[in-house]
Amino acid sequence: MDLKSGYPFWAVKNGLMQAFPKLTREVSCDVVVVGGGITGALIAHELGCHGHDVVVVERRDIGWGSSAASTALLQYEIDTHLTELSEIVGEAEAVKAYRGCAQAIRDIETLAREVGDVDFDRQQSLYYASEEEDVSSLRREFELRRQHGFNADWLERDDIRARFGFEAPCAILTPLAARLDPYRMAYHLFARLLAGGGRVFDRTEIVDIRPGEARVTLTTTDAISLHCRHLVMAAGYESQPWIDQQVASNRSSYAFVTDPIAPETLGSLASTMIWESARPYLYLRSTGDGRLMVGGEDDDVDIPSRRDQKVGEKAEILVKQVKALFPDLSINPTFSWGGTFAETDDGLPFFGPHEQYGPRVHFAMAYGGNGISYSMLGAGLLRALIEERSHPLSELFSFSRGRHGAGG
Ligand SMILES: Cc1cc2nc3c(=O)[nH]c(=O)nc-3n(C[C@H](O)[C@H](O)[C@H](O)COP(=O)(O)OP(=O)(O)OC[C@H]3O[C@@H](n4cnc5c(N)ncnc54)[C@H](O)[C@@H]3O)c2cc1C
Repeated sequence: MDLKSGYPFWAVKNGLMQAFPKLTREVSCDVVVVGGGITGALIAHELGCHGHDVVVVERRDIGWGSSAASTALLQYEIDTHLTELSEIVGEAEAVKAYRGCAQAIRDIETLAREVGDVDFDRQQSLYYASEEEDVSSLRREFELRRQHGFNADWLERDDIRARFGFEAPCAILTPLAARLDPYRMAYHLFARLLAGGGRVFDRTEIVDIRPGEARVTLTTTDAISLHCRHLVMAAGYESQPWIDQQVASNRSSYAFVTDPIAPETLGSLASTMIWESARPYLYLRSTGDGRLMVGGEDDDVDIPSRRDQKVGEKAEILVKQVKALFPDLSINPTFSWGGTFAETDDGLPFFGPHEQYGPRVHFAMAYGGNGISYSMLGAGLLRALIEERSHPLSELFSFSRGRHGAGG
């Protein structure tokens, strides 16, 4: 599977930041993490910082999967409204998931500031109603969030026009959101892991997993074995084929980035990420060097060659959508791309063991529109499971929640 098309901005901007060796000899460790994207990086770093001997293997180059294509809007608001999620899993559980994601934003902030130089910035998030008919559901969403202590403001059409310069019937403005360069973050986290004694290998593909009573044995395409007490499969959208249970469907999202725009022209967009109630939705945010990064036009294309052909046409549609919102803003795509992401039925991720492999093999499927917030949350969750501690979201994010109607 090719996880991206076109020219993903982060990979173009940063290049291959560091070389890692290919695995050539048998290894043993506490935890093997399969996958060198942002999810694998956050998990491996979390485990490495807490005394676990970690080995990471990546079949491509580090960060070269979906993480290179991510627009990385960091939000606690997931694609499934709190009101909708409450209907699926119950209000208490839904609130727990939203609170967990809110904490994940704060945790990424702490980590990103510690790591430094990852284009992290706190932002506000503006979620607007695309149509008049969405106003009542947004209002219910706003009220439920406020009822549970989430800080948010309700904006009417006039407020949106005055403060953000575009037309929409209403919006929810949230102060807790952020942006990040996820590719750079992954490289920096792996560098820290190495400095702390961890090991990272790229161009090393796992083709077999054998769980045993006391340890798990993995095999690479070169028939090299890795032995570990626990395995974390952070293989992104390539995790699904490893389990029989169909938990998500792969989709493509498209994005482009502009040349740097003068701060006086960018205005409130410099500190505000914007998305909408339509599905699929348009999403946009600025970068540290003053560009506008825009995404959307999601479709169910999962064949890389078909997606390759669509990138130009999708970027044109996205430009038109932004121009319809901000007619005075002059924008042109400098780089455009598309990438794979996955959707679960309830919008929640899957973290933890799957019955097919037993308790030592953990999956990290940070699927959904705000996958990176999930990855941060999942890092703490999986560490808790590996250390045999409880975690408030382990049940809700488990494969067995399928009984609630999520996933297969
Ligand atoms: C266009 C686009 C926009 C997005 N926007 C946002 C956003 O605004 N906010 C947000 O939070 N999320 C967003 N996402 C989703 C986000 O990018 C993902 O949640 C995140 O990148 C997933 O990271 P990952 O590490 O799980 O997967 P990946 O980055 O794909 O990493 C998994 C890695 O595992 C490796 N691998 C797979 N199988 C094996 C194997 N057998 N052996 C060894 N290695 C293997 C792969 O090579 C890959 O590098 C977006 C995604 C796309 C495509």
